[in-house]
Amino acid sequence: MRIIMLGPPGAGKGTQAVKLAERLGVPHISTGDILRHEVAKKTKLGQAAHKYMAAGKLVPDDLVIEMTLKRLKAPDARKGFILDGYPRTLPQAQALDKAAKIDAVVNLFLDPEDLVKRSTGRWVCPNCDAVYHVLTNPPAKRGVCDKCGSALVQREDDTEKVVRARIRTYDDLTEPLAAHYRAKGILRDVYASGHIEEVHQRILEALRK
Ligand code: ADP
Ligand code: AMP
Repeated sequence: MRIIMLGPPGAGKGTQAVKLAERLGVPHISTGDILRHEVAKKTKLGQAAHKYMAAGKLVPDDLVIEMTLKRLKAPDARKGFILDGYPRTLPQAQALDKAAKIDAVVNLFLDPEDLVKRSTGRWVCPNCDAVYHVLTNPPAKRGVCDKCGSALVQREDDTEKVVRARIRTYDDLTEPLAAHYRAKGILRDVYASGHIEEVHQRILEALRK
């Protein structure tokens, strides 16, 4: 299965992508995670991407397209993948159309104020990319990753101001992609409110259609 997780920042794409990837035995490929590791390592790509990410803007298409298509060529992605955070623009979608046949696009939607609450309460593991929420999905021990024991951090783009800028970027540039995939007959709209497990079941149901 080759699946795309579409939806605004904070909708729960990463959280649901991890569950789906485990269930289907395919890798979870998050372009945001890849970029954050490049920034942390101060690579050329990371240095070029950082100012856009910190401002809630999109990293230029040429950089992201090359990075993602390279990742999709890795052996573990041959059996399928859950792509999270890509595509975000029409040129990105067109580049992906040429590279892979996508089976389904899960389009998560949620009230904007809930998106802000989810993003501003998010804590992430800089080592293994596990995602928590201070209220709705806390780790067993405060500030410590359940999976690898590393100290959790807040993303620098999860301040309310930058989250609202990211939602605007999504509305302007990424939301139109829903029509691109709807026209192909592979878009599956899923309401992202409710418990993580409840949303997971809704996604499985939508994928059976
Ligand atoms: P995205 O990848 O779409 O930006 P995440 O998966 O990182 O979103 O989720 C954003 C925040 O919301 C995280 O803190 C996560 O723990 C929390 N979260 C995800 N799904 C739910 C849910 N169904 N209910 C409550 N909180 C959730
Ligand atoms: P995310 O982890 O998906 O919320 O992404 C965090 C940030 O990384 C975004 O706000 C963008 O700056 C950048 N980013 C991630 N994926 C892409 C993409 N496909 N195109 C452009 N920028 C991206």
